[in-house]
Amino acid sequence: MCTMNVRVDEDKCIGCGTCQEICPAVFYLNEVTGKSEIVDPDGCDYAGCCEAAEENCPVEAIMLEE
Ligand code: SF4
Repeated sequence: MCTMNVRVDEDKCIGCGTCQEICPAVFYLNEVTGKSEIVDPDGCDYAGCCEAAEENCPVEAIMLEE
C-alpha cells in the first residue's frame, strides 16, 4: 500500500484554517496554539484531500511525501 507522509511546518503555519476546511479528516486547527495539527496521517490515503490542502496552503507549510 502506498502511504503518504504528511507534515505541517509549525514555524511557517499562520493558522488560517484552510487545510482543515479542505481536509478535516487529516488537519485540525488548534485554536490554542494557532497552528494546524495532523490528526490522522493515514487520512491522506483514504480521504485523498492532502494534495488540495498542500496546494492551497498560503505559506506552503504542508509537506507531502510519498
Ligand atoms: S493552510 Fe497552511 S497556514 Fe493555513 S492552517 Fe493549514 S498549514 Fe497553517
